[in-house]
Amino acid sequence: MNQPGLQAISPLANHGIQKQDDILAIAETYGCSELHIKTDPDTGLQAIIAIHNTKLGPATGGCRCLPYPSLAAAVEDAANLARGMSYKAALAGIPCGGGKSVLIRPETIVDREAYFEAFGEFIETLGGRYITAVDSGTSTTDMDCIARSTAHVRGLSVAHGGSGDPSPFTARGVRKAIEIAVELVLQRNNLDGIKVAIQGAGHVGYALARELYNHGAKIIVSDHNPEHLERCHDEFDATTVSLDGIYEAECDLFAPCALGGVLNDTTIRRLNCNIVAGAANNQLEERRHGQILHQRGIVYVPDYVINSGGLIHVLNRDKEKRELQLNHMLDTLWKLFKQSAISGHTMIHEADVMAQRILDIKPDT
Ligand code: NAD
Repeated sequence: MNQPGLQAISPLANHGIQKQDDILAIAETYGCSELHIKTDPDTGLQAIIAIHNTKLGPATGGCRCLPYPSLAAAVEDAANLARGMSYKAALAGIPCGGGKSVLIRPETIVDREAYFEAFGEFIETLGGRYITAVDSGTSTTDMDCIARSTAHVRGLSVAHGGSGDPSPFTARGVRKAIEIAVELVLQRNNLDGIKVAIQGAGHVGYALARELYNHGAKIIVSDHNPEHLERCHDEFDATTVSLDGIYEAECDLFAPCALGGVLNDTTIRRLNCNIVAGAANNQLEERRHGQILHQRGIVYVPDYVINSGGLIHVLNRDKEKRELQLNHMLDTLWKLFKQSAISGHTMIHEADVMAQRILDIKPDT
């Protein structure tokens, strides 16, 4: 199994782009308007910031710190995720643009504090055009280090005046979205006995398992961290399955909460569910896989629509405002279901069109 972040989210071949070469062409493929790259041999920092769009506000998106096989792979991940952030904010009514940073993790980070401080200095050079936050491979403690060099960071630890881990709020949004999907697809008005297969029980997967269990669902879970499996088994009576077995788990709903690119030519044909709805970013290896799911009669609920709770949480301290924005996202989801039923197109298609329309209508500032 590939490392997280290294999954082959690679529609580039369809655009005639050789992965190794043209990083600017990669950025353009995903509609990114800016690409910033920084190296710092003293700390081992190799950082990429991709900015997709700033029409709705400063480009905002988390910072991934993962190993990548090449610069091109890292740029592709950053650019693809940055586009997702623009669309996510647009559809949740959040006044920010889309950006993402990727740190190509070295084999060892000798001084983690210095590493993230150096990254903060890089962010500072952009003068607020990009705001970072936690993502895979980074923590609220890392955000505290970044904050020593720049104010353009969110999701600091509570001890440093931040909002802390956004995962429980993200999971709450995903659970509410799942309730809508279950109501509209399975004609069930609660989650009692609904079987959900969760791939990845890390920050958000674990929190989602708790949400669903507390609402009566039956949990199936996979993770390569045995401790993560154990706590789901002990706390939520979850059935544990192998990393590969999760794709064939008999369930009502499959919830990817680990990696990107997990819905692809190989996995989709193995799925044994009616709905796919989870928190992981970029679950479809390519957009065409949304159509393939549709043809198999599986409803795919777009990831970037329903996982916006994390962004809402890091940008707002006010609880009421958070709830309002989460409800905005859920209203959007209702509209997408309706629109998709009328047009016969997939929801991901409708979501892309709706988000792009919002960005196109807003004049440049
Ligand atoms: P995390 O690193 O805490 O958790 C990921 C989990 O997946 C880990 O437990 C890991 O062991 C497991 N895993 C890795 N490879 C796996 C595999 N092949 N099969 C099964 N499990 C595997 O990360 P996270 O914060 O929970 O985020 C997970 C995903 O959700 C990412 O795509 C992230 O971008 C997205 N997301 C998270 C939030 C949030 O609030 N945490 C918000 C929006 C989107």
